Amino acid sequence: MLQRNHVYLKEHLDVEKILDELYQREVFSLSEKERCTGKQGLSAQSDELLCILPRKGRKGYDIFLQILDKVQPYIKDQLEGKDSSDSHTASAPEKQPLDQVERLKMEIENLRMEAAQLEKSYVQLQSSHEQLKTSHEQLEKENEMLREQLHTKNQGAAGSDRGGIPDSRMDPGSQLQLDAARANIDWCHVNTDGQLVNSRPATQDRHSGRLRKYEGTCATTSIPLPPSPSTVTPAPCTPQYWETHSRVGVVSEGWGCLVLEVGVVEESQVDSKMYVYLQRRSWCVGVWSCGTHRGSLCTSVWQQGEKGKCYSNTMFDTLGKQATLHYGVVLDVGRGRLAFIDLDREVVSAKVDVEWRESLLPVFSAGHPDLYTVNMKVISGPDITMTDTKKSLIFDALN
Ligand SMILES: [Zn+2]
Repeated sequence: MLQRNHVYLKEHLDVEKILDELYQREVFSLSEKERCTGKQGLSAQSDELLCILPRKGRKGYDIFLQILDKVQPYIKDQLEGKDSSDSHTASAPEKQPLDQVERLKMEIENLRMEAAQLEKSYVQLQSSHEQLKTSHEQLEKENEMLREQLHTKNQGAAGSDRGGIPDSRMDPGSQLQLDAARANIDWCHVNTDGQLVNSRPATQDRHSGRLRKYEGTCATTSIPLPPSPSTVTPAPCTPQYWETHSRVGVVSEGWGCLVLEVGVVEESQVDSKMYVYLQRRSWCVGVWSCGTHRGSLCTSVWQQGEKGKCYSNTMFDTLGKQATLHYGVVLDVGRGRLAFIDLDREVVSAKVDVEWRESLLPVFSAGHPDLYTVNMKVISGPDITMTDTKKSLIFDALN
């Protein structure tokens, strides 16, 4: 490039200033500087400078350009204007091939298109973001509303006497226990932990008080009906709640077979049939292998022998499967209200209003041990772990 601009540079360079700078920046040695200044006339001095400079390599040339930029910027512009395409490859001053220029142009065009695409994506993302933000805000509002509703509901449940939920304030005397002495030992027994197991006990005490037809057992005490309104001072009636936790294992798949049932019967009916759901004046929640939903055990509520909705997929009815099933019973004899809660599904399976004629007896049974193993634990009174969900389910059951 120096060569191509030799004449122009020779005529225009401010030799003195440039030599000083070149020396100061250690491109030219003192003797090289003096060799230039020793020449007669500015033109000869420029000539000498331009003769030495190419030996200083790329670095020297770059510094020369920086000096020109500072001292005589128009000369630098002139040099670059004449040689814009190779200003960065000045040490190899061949002309750039045209196709390289074209390639660069294409690259620039591509980059421009990419930038346009990115901008478009950015605009789209921004709009999605706006939409998400709006949805999120709506969800938050809904969530807040639901939380308030639940809170009100829970407060109602905790505060209402009618909804009197048996919690730690419940009288321990009203705790419900399985009657080991009445268990039908042809089918089951109550073990030393007070749990109902569907296998025959090791020792069989066949006294007359045992249930003979009903293949389960009942609570140790029945729940009396409140005195009729004509009585002078009606005793306050608190609703009762108990629940069962049953460990169930599939030994062999059944067909229309009962796995377990938890219910309430009028006392005189208790031993009239082998299962509660077959008895008159009985109400129960049962788990069974229904004929419609093969491969799954279903949960249903029976009212006086009539089967209600089938909740399928209670657990797999497949050999070796095990699960613990939880059901709650809410009974308000004072108001004639009975309800069953499916604690695993967190739903009130059924609630019914009945005019009872006799004291009520809670009953529990388990199916045939060659089909299912069942180990049922009854929990009541202070042993119940009361949660907010449970409270609102019980509240729902009573209202
Ligand atoms: Zn079913």
